[in-house]
Amino acid sequence: MKYEAVIGLEVHAQLLTDTKIFCNCSTKFGAAPNSHTCPICLGMPGVLPVLNKKVVEYAIKMGLATHCRINAQCSFARKNYFYPDLPKGYQISQYAEPLAEFGHVDIEINGEKKAIGITRIHMEEDAGKLLHDEHNPVSYVDLNRTGVPLIEIVSEPDMRSAEEAAAYLKRLHEILVYLEICDGNMEEGSFRCDANISLRPWGETAFGIRTELKNMNSFRNVQRALEYEIKRQQYILDDGGEVVQETRLWEDGQGVTHSMRSKEEAHDYRYFPDPDLVPIDIGRDWVDEVEKNLPELPLAKRERFMGEYQISAYDAGVLTVSRALADYFEEVAKRSGKPKIAANWVMGDILKFLNEEKKDIKDCPITPSALADLIGLIDKGTISGKMAKDVVEQMYQTGKAPTAIIEEKGMVQITDESTLSKIISEVIEANPEQVAQYRSGKEKVFGFFVGQIMKATQGKANPKIINDLLKKMLTKS
Ligand code: ADP
Ligand code: MG
Ligand code: ZN
Repeated sequence: MKYEAVIGLEVHAQLLTDTKIFCNCSTKFGAAPNSHTCPICLGMPGVLPVLNKKVVEYAIKMGLATHCRINAQCSFARKNYFYPDLPKGYQISQYAEPLAEFGHVDIEINGEKKAIGITRIHMEEDAGKLLHDEHNPVSYVDLNRTGVPLIEIVSEPDMRSAEEAAAYLKRLHEILVYLEICDGNMEEGSFRCDANISLRPWGETAFGIRTELKNMNSFRNVQRALEYEIKRQQYILDDGGEVVQETRLWEDGQGVTHSMRSKEEAHDYRYFPDPDLVPIDIGRDWVDEVEKNLPELPLAKRERFMGEYQISAYDAGVLTVSRALADYFEEVAKRSGKPKIAANWVMGDILKFLNEEKKDIKDCPITPSALADLIGLIDKGTISGKMAKDVVEQMYQTGKAPTAIIEEKGMVQITDESTLSKIISEVIEANPEQVAQYRSGKEKVFGFFVGQIMKATQGKANPKIINDLLKKMLTKS
């Protein structure tokens, strides 16, 4: 390709506050249409918005987690527009004085690190929803979402491929969910992304004309839409044409983007300071307080896990996908004292069981301490690794402790040497031909004996003791 892609993302994240940004209505998803509304969020004349402090706190959290400067003063502005789902005819947002600026998020692709700049993070209110009737030529409006708090996170045009954009988006998502300020649900629209994309000839420093893509409701679709759009713009430019600056919608079914409307410019919105809301002074004390209470973030956790538990970057990545999974693993690692083995159990059996049922780690019937006990039982030789695979499955199905299952099923490993010796000599006596083969140097038949002993003990013999005893007894006489 003759062109380099330039991508910048605008992400809207719905904040997990109980009430809306400027009134006391509930933010709960899924209620009957228009049941979570009041004169303020309905945009009645003469009402006054009152800012929800939690919204500011959550926005500061995200600003700090993405290395932004938190501005000492910020203010709200009115963005004027005809919104059928925002009756007052303007959206309260931030414009000239956003809450946070000049941050970055680190991404990594094929082992290469890159910082993606954050231009700004600002607070604003969400609009409602139009429900289009499939059978009638009418649309309904549901204003429950009107006034639900959002932060918009605007990136610098720093990404150079669809893959980088998807990686950046995943990092942002992960940070928001770790901070517990957004549920991250892309299908319900709590985490939405508009992607701006342009092409320019390699070596050119000026940006080309961009389009803005909307309506992608998964990471995969963001990547697919961008890949499609790169090709579409490439054909236009190759043909000597010009890309039109516009907003385009992603059509998931067809895998294409199509034009929705020509792009409005910022001056079309006639932004002006909202006279109903005073500017906010954000004292250093408040920022320090929020910073002190930030949880450990995914990247830091990943690096700590690699150092503290000696696990690979890949394993650390899987185990820190969510805070709950990371906490689960860490508790098993600490309780068992065997972090690598703990990592294998969690990433192997536990995640497999959970994935099969599309369950979350929070609903795992096996507690971290029960899994640690299981690891201890294998370590002590009470059960073999192979038996443990059955036990863990039973634990998952019944929620019982490993010792209870082992006892019930009579699964305890046979470690008693005299019992095992007796079984081994019986097997030796019954197979004189194989004994002769072994003694003439055909060591491969050793496996045959192990198999026979396991069969005689229903797999309960301790493999290590069998190995030692069998070797001795086969060479003796
Ligand atoms: P608007 O709010 O009108 O969409 P902004 O200037 O806020 O415009 O930019 C929105 C996003 O578009 C930002 O993430 C920015 O990085 C990105 N962007 C701006 N210019 C370009 C361009 N030429 N190509 C790709 N992305 C761009
Ligand atoms: Mg935009
Ligand atoms: Zn309200």
